[in-house]
Amino acid sequence: MKPAPFEHLAAPSADEAVAALARGGPDAKVLAGGQSLVPMLALRLARPTLLVDINPARELDYVREDAGAVAIGATARQRAVERWAATRLPLLAEALRWVGHAPIRNRGTAVGSIVHGDPASELPALLLCLDGAVIASGPRGRRQIAARDLYLGPLYTSLDAAELAVEARLTLPPAGAGWGFAEVARRHGDFALAGAAALLALDGDGRVSLARLAMFGVGPTPVRAAAAEAALIGHAPDAARIAEAARAGAAALEPDGDIHASADYRRRAAAVLAERVLTAAAGRCRRAA
Ligand SMILES: Cc1cc2nc3c(=O)[nH]c(=O)nc-3n(C[C@H](O)[C@H](O)[C@H](O)COP(=O)(O)OP(=O)(O)OC[C@H]3O[C@@H](n4cnc5c(N)ncnc54)[C@H](O)[C@@H]3O)c2cc1C
Repeated sequence: MKPAPFEHLAAPSADEAVAALARGGPDAKVLAGGQSLVPMLALRLARPTLLVDINPARELDYVREDAGAVAIGATARQRAVERWAATRLPLLAEALRWVGHAPIRNRGTAVGSIVHGDPASELPALLLCLDGAVIASGPRGRRQIAARDLYLGPLYTSLDAAELAVEARLTLPPAGAGWGFAEVARRHGDFALAGAAALLALDGDGRVSLARLAMFGVGPTPVRAAAAEAALIGHAPDAARIAEAARAGAAALEPDGDIHASADYRRRAAAVLAERVLTAAAGRCRRAA
């Protein structure tokens, strides 16, 4: 199929993109890498009358460390973020390796993936795991939306239709923190049937002082497994404690079944993946001095 007719506007700056979104109203949409939007247009699952193309806005093309976070501009490609993260934030680099294939990551933006909000997507889960936020710019100015307030349902976020996500910020882990990432997909590059990302840090006695576990593909939005995190804080992350935490985290999930996997399969996979990523994270931790 071909897309329904639309007007294309090349926005040379973030401000001009925001002004165009305001003029276009609810029928305007941002075009970033187009790796999700263009297929949706072609299938007529989305029928915007105005596409506000932010690719000409060079000011939005950056990945940099800023005040204890990695700041990612709206047009930074997933591959650029992957390259930046390879030496500085391996958890993010590993997660990106699972996003589609290299040609998709060469074009797709990290911010586009974060605000598209596919529940089986890697980057929204990373935003949760790394206590991140999105900076939104709209007709009433700029605001910061914390990851925990962003995801409301499948492909549904608290970003207003008139807002442009100008930047995503992911908090850098403390020194010595360990990480783990794993997912199950039918083929490499497919969206995950279930996935997990973990971050752990230890105090000087070898007890967990920071625990974050984010799960994806197992519900309408990515989630932080609060029960698993609570089960770990203050304890040595030995195999029994990790198994108990993973069970607690998976028990709170309410995945749906579909043609790819049943709800029961997803819940079981989530428990196994949670245990794996927590074990990997514990193995990579260094005790605080
Ligand atoms: C074959 C294939 C396999 C894929 N596999 C995976 C996978 O395994 N995991 C995965 O996570 N993704 C996967 N993707 C999707 C890919 O990661 C997309 O690039 C990403 O989801 C969207 O980023 P984009 O820059 O392409 O956004 P676009 O497609 O341009 O936009 C997507 C949506 O987000 C909105 N949007 C984008 N940027 C902004 C912004 N700055 N402010 C406000 N709204 C914005 C758009 O209006 C649109 O609604 C796959 C895509 C393909 C084609």
